Amino acid sequence: MLRHTDWGEADRLLVLFSREAGKLRAVAKGARKLRSRKAGHLEPFTRVKLLMASGRDFWIITQAETVDAYLPIREDLVRTAYAAYVIELIDRFTYEEGENRPLFQLLIDTLGRIAALPDAFPAVRYYEIRLLDLLGFRPELTNCVRCGAQIQPENQFFDADLGGVLCPRCGANVPAAHPISMPALKFLRHYQRSTFHEASRAALTPAVQREVEALLNYYLTYLLERRLNSPAFLHEVRRDFSDHL
Ligand SMILES: [Zn+2]
Repeated sequence: MLRHTDWGEADRLLVLFSREAGKLRAVAKGARKLRSRKAGHLEPFTRVKLLMASGRDFWIITQAETVDAYLPIREDLVRTAYAAYVIELIDRFTYEEGENRPLFQLLIDTLGRIAALPDAFPAVRYYEIRLLDLLGFRPELTNCVRCGAQIQPENQFFDADLGGVLCPRCGANVPAAHPISMPALKFLRHYQRSTFHEASRAALTPAVQREVEALLNYYLTYLLERRLNSPAFLHEVRRDFSDHL
């Protein structure tokens, strides 16, 4: 479950990411009443098993059962913040467009790793890189996105608009491009082609950690802003808006 809002007198409108139907919205009737049995199962960051009936506008939840409450995430503020970020990304990058099992699996795996591992950094970076793959925004990291030359082991540039790395010669002519160090590029490539188990064994200095985090943040922010201006997004917003009238 991704988030909820109050709905009518006593109900809740939930935004869920499901294995069978991807992102969807559902109403939990009476969930805000004190003694509601469903309410305890319907908290954000919780993995739940639901029985639903189709309603006029949304699905209606008839039964809820917790599969995993991710208690270590709830009990630790840093983990809570990481999980909130993971959920916000999937929520902002997806529409109600039907089943997407790889994305569902990535979300479940990532929340499980944040709950279980002492450091959430590898889990969250791996999530960002896989999310980019699954959404069709996999950055090009082996050849210059402008001249096509193979990237050499040296410091380069990265450009969000072109979607990948630029060799030092081309990068110098693209004012918006961000510098990227060789260790940061190696980290991204390693994460792009490895399983989580292999990827998470790579050791990183704090400086490279910060660089990788900032670079992914720059690319994801760019994509979200571009998406905010896309026709599909405007359509979604209009539908949301008219649903609430
Ligand atoms: Zn080039």
